Amino acid sequence: MKKESKKYVYFFGKGMTEGSADMKALLGGKGANLADMTSIGLPVPPGFTITTEACAYFDQHKGGYPEGLRDEVIANLHKLEKLMGAKLGDKENPLLVSVRSGAAQSMPGMMDTVLNLGLNPDSLQALIKKTGNERFAWDSYRRFIQMFGDVVMGVPHAEFERVLQSVKDENGKKFDTELDVENLKEVIKRYKIVYKKFTGEEFPVDPEYQLFKTIDAVFNSWNNERAIKYRLMNDIRGLLGTAVNVQCMVFGNMGETSGTGVAFTRDPSSGENKFFGEYLMNAQGEDVVAGIRTPQTIDTLKNVNPEVYAQLCEIRETLEKHYHDMQDLEFTIQEGKLYMLQTRNGKRTIFSWLRSQVEMVEEGLISKETAVERVPAQEFNKLFAPILDNKIIRDLNCKVATTGLNASPGGACGQIYFTAKAAEEAAAEGKDVILVREETSPEDIGGMAVSRGVVTCRGGMTSHAAVVARGMGCPCVSGCGEIHVDEIKKTLTVNGVMLSEGDYMAIDGFTGAVYTQKIPVKPSEIMQVLDGTMRESESLLFQNYKKFMSYVNEIKTMGVRTNADTPKDAHHAVLLGAEGIGLCRTEHMFFGGNRILSMRKMILADNIGAREQALSELLPMQRGDFYNIFKELNGLPVTIRLLDPPLHEFLPNDSTTRHETALQLGISVEEIAQKISKLHEFNPMLGFRGCRLAVIYPEILAMQVRAIIEAAIQAKREGYDVKPEIMIPLVGIYKEFNFCRDKAIEVINKVFDEQGLKVAYKIGTMIEVPRAAITADEIAKTAEFFSFGTNDLTQMTCGFSRDDAASFLGHYVNDPDKQFYEYDPFATIDFDGVGKLVKMAAGLGRSVRPDIKLGICGEHGGDPKTIAFCQEVGLNYVSCSPFRVPIARLAAAQAAISKKKA
Ligand code: ADP
Ligand code: MG
Ligand code: MG
Repeated sequence: MKKESKKYVYFFGKGMTEGSADMKALLGGKGANLADMTSIGLPVPPGFTITTEACAYFDQHKGGYPEGLRDEVIANLHKLEKLMGAKLGDKENPLLVSVRSGAAQSMPGMMDTVLNLGLNPDSLQALIKKTGNERFAWDSYRRFIQMFGDVVMGVPHAEFERVLQSVKDENGKKFDTELDVENLKEVIKRYKIVYKKFTGEEFPVDPEYQLFKTIDAVFNSWNNERAIKYRLMNDIRGLLGTAVNVQCMVFGNMGETSGTGVAFTRDPSSGENKFFGEYLMNAQGEDVVAGIRTPQTIDTLKNVNPEVYAQLCEIRETLEKHYHDMQDLEFTIQEGKLYMLQTRNGKRTIFSWLRSQVEMVEEGLISKETAVERVPAQEFNKLFAPILDNKIIRDLNCKVATTGLNASPGGACGQIYFTAKAAEEAAAEGKDVILVREETSPEDIGGMAVSRGVVTCRGGMTSHAAVVARGMGCPCVSGCGEIHVDEIKKTLTVNGVMLSEGDYMAIDGFTGAVYTQKIPVKPSEIMQVLDGTMRESESLLFQNYKKFMSYVNEIKTMGVRTNADTPKDAHHAVLLGAEGIGLCRTEHMFFGGNRILSMRKMILADNIGAREQALSELLPMQRGDFYNIFKELNGLPVTIRLLDPPLHEFLPNDSTTRHETALQLGISVEEIAQKISKLHEFNPMLGFRGCRLAVIYPEILAMQVRAIIEAAIQAKREGYDVKPEIMIPLVGIYKEFNFCRDKAIEVINKVFDEQGLKVAYKIGTMIEVPRAAITADEIAKTAEFFSFGTNDLTQMTCGFSRDDAASFLGHYVNDPDKQFYEYDPFATIDFDGVGKLVKMAAGLGRSVRPDIKLGICGEHGGDPKTIAFCQEVGLNYVSCSPFRVPIARLAAAQAAISKKKA
């Protein structure tokens, strides 16, 4: 008996559909949905899908096919021919097909598609005879040659465009649609010359040859540069490859009763529930998106063909009801008849995500869980980006000078500078800077970091500038081809306007609009409502945000705290929904004003008396800070970490400041220099820091604990609900922890006595030294909470410091032949290494103290993938910087959902 071989091809067509919507991994999103749309009775041209497994095989075997694939394709082609009563490339009754790519996750425009395949001089004549439309047939043929040449054979697209343009010019024609048969024949003649010049071959006539060559090209496009970059940027991993869809052609280029279009079932920019789309009559394929002619908006289709428009509106509803999400669809009208060519979940801005999901919940289309699950946590922050003041744009009638790509959202306004260095200097003078570059490179990062906004003349949505700006949350408009920069003269020109260095520019990263004038920015509407500067009733965005966050809170089980060192940060974080402070770093309180001087005095003191004197100067300042933080956090826990960094970080390192300090403290410069060299460490990260400072100088700990408890009591007296949690950093041995804890308790009891009032408190530790993780059961005997300091824990577990890893770590993560780490271990926790330690320490901690509170306070605490991990381990909370709190809340809810599902 013959062994059952693997199935690589799935047919779709009336009554014969083999694939289904749940086969996206195998058939790609496009293929699965073509099958699905066929099944629910929508008008889809029939065809077949070659699986992603075939692509994976092709990939691994340097272009080889799995056994039987070729035969299977031929068999399906025959099936299609039979269904259509036509034959591929036939000279009597020709069938033409499209060959389309499509992976499991949609990657619009990243891979390749060829239309009108099967045309050759014979089938061309047959097509003319059959349709009686000579112009259409020639137009289809010239498109096929162009696409096959470009996609399959790598003939530069620009070469074809040049030919097309010159024929248009020679004949005084502006648009493609104005070319007549003779013109098209001329184009084709020249196309074939171009083709031969670049490939050394005649343009192929054999339809089967055309077909298999194109299938190979689509497989190959899985690994073209664009596609690889897109996957990297969007963190798309673990897919097999692209599927290939071979589908009967329908023609939008058969004259004025034909056309093609793309539409969204809701507005992909705002999320509004209205039909959104564009179409062009007498056009094919990507004409609509290629900007050859300006497309019409979808609502005007009702004047052109009311029946088709009504049918489309009906399909819009059918699709949303069927897929329960906003769809992005492609359609073609052939001589008044509508065909559906694609549907997929629409890509959209975060604003559109928010509104569409909230409205779908209210329409009863989806559950709250579904809404929460879908909204991309990584992008959530864009809701909070500042915006240009639209009212002023309207009032002053500001004109858009040029429009580029909306590469990173938000509004920005400032003075223009043309180099990173100039930008940094201007920013240092306190100016708002817009950095304008031809394009940016890694050397420009410093300049970008200080800029309010970035503009580039070249470069697309995945250019350096765009990627970096998005990462920084800095508004960016890229690819402004109409801006010409003269770096030497320090000027730019844009559509006849000249600007010099220091002139004002405003950019809208949501739309790509660039203005050559000053337009003020204002906080996002959400921030305005939270701040009380805008009424809730005036902001639909805020209303949707509030509803959405109420779903989030219903679903999530982990707490989200914030890392905040100042009352201002704490205030901000609480507005954004923080449920406590997970990390309050006290060292930041020692900078600024005279504090640093007292701190230096303390460090330079050579006896305990002098040190205590300096500490007593610091005490009231610390107490004041803590008091204000307790007030902000009324009712919420505040974890305060005792002094952590090595002392030398507080001493002046340039000679001017050393002289000043010497003068202020009445000591000699030499004394300072001596102390500095004494404190010098070869590897400060592993040096005299953390609880080691408290062990050697317990008076520092005593002062800090006193400040915390006195502040707490003061706030409590005034009616605030205070929940201080004292955290000892860098513990490695339980004895270290106990030493510090005992000292702290001694001080606390003394303060209680002095004040005649007590407050509840907790004492716990950071787990950031591997030894602490390994011996967590010992430590948990006395520690009431653990907070995983995953930055240091990562450094010490992996054996490299974050500041020194740049030279190799990028390769470890990104080089396709390496990828030793799945993600940057400083951004996403290294699950198998550092994560294993965290898991172990959590388990050990709970084994001796079942109710121990567990949290994470490293940079990782705001990373959605790490948050999912924390949910898995069962941590009580994550803590992250204030501006990441909303992301973390959303990610925590998403983690709760996937845990429940698992
Ligand atoms: P992408 O994945 O980049 O969207 P597609 O495979 O959807 O690429 O195809 C590109 C264009 O060609 C789209 O406009 C699509 O609608 C059109 N197209 C694809 N197949 C056909 C077909 N069989 N008949 C008519 N137009 C088609
Ligand atoms: Mg395409
Ligand atoms: Mg498409």
